[in-house]
Amino acid sequence: MKTIGVLALQGAVSEHLSMITKTGHQAVPIKHPEELATLDGLILPGGESTTMRRFIEKYHFTGPLHDFAQSGRGIFGTCAGLVLSASAISNGDTGYKFADYTAVRNGFGRQKMSFEVDLSIAALGETPFRAIFIRAPYIEKVGEGVTVLARVDGKIVAAHENNILVTAFHPELTDDTRLMDYFIRHCIS
Ligand code: GLN
Repeated sequence: MKTIGVLALQGAVSEHLSMITKTGHQAVPIKHPEELATLDGLILPGGESTTMRRFIEKYHFTGPLHDFAQSGRGIFGTCAGLVLSASAISNGDTGYKFADYTAVRNGFGRQKMSFEVDLSIAALGETPFRAIFIRAPYIEKVGEGVTVLARVDGKIVAAHENNILVTAFHPELTDDTRLMDYFIRHCIS
């Protein structure tokens, strides 16, 4: 059994905690940097990346999060978590550089504030993954080490590099645990 934390400063925390429990692992909400020490993996949830970044700085998480990523422990960034994990953000903000890609915030534009699609994700098998997008970002440029897992309209919406997994959508809002299983299998040793 792995111990997986959810950064609980802002955003969709409880749904991720339930998803972790559903996969048979221990779920821990993380409110203080010291709590990272006990974890095998960490989820950076959806929410508002600018607000989350403010809280990350205010509560002294910046250094500890970098140390966590450097230590090779898994990080799963969903939506705002994808924006924060990026090496670059299209509006010129810097991400925390956990993986090598550029994120485009709110990349699907006004007409597509929220939408759902059946995504084909070859790494998860044949059954499509019902993906829920809410003011979602996308990835526009990836470094060599990044595996692209899924696209919508040609835009990258899920990717994996070493211990880091990111999705532009919200897997925690469905009952489908396959991405959480993928995270545990491929990003956590
Ligand atoms: N658009 C938000 C941001 O960039 C992310 C939205 C979400 O996490 N659902 O912070």
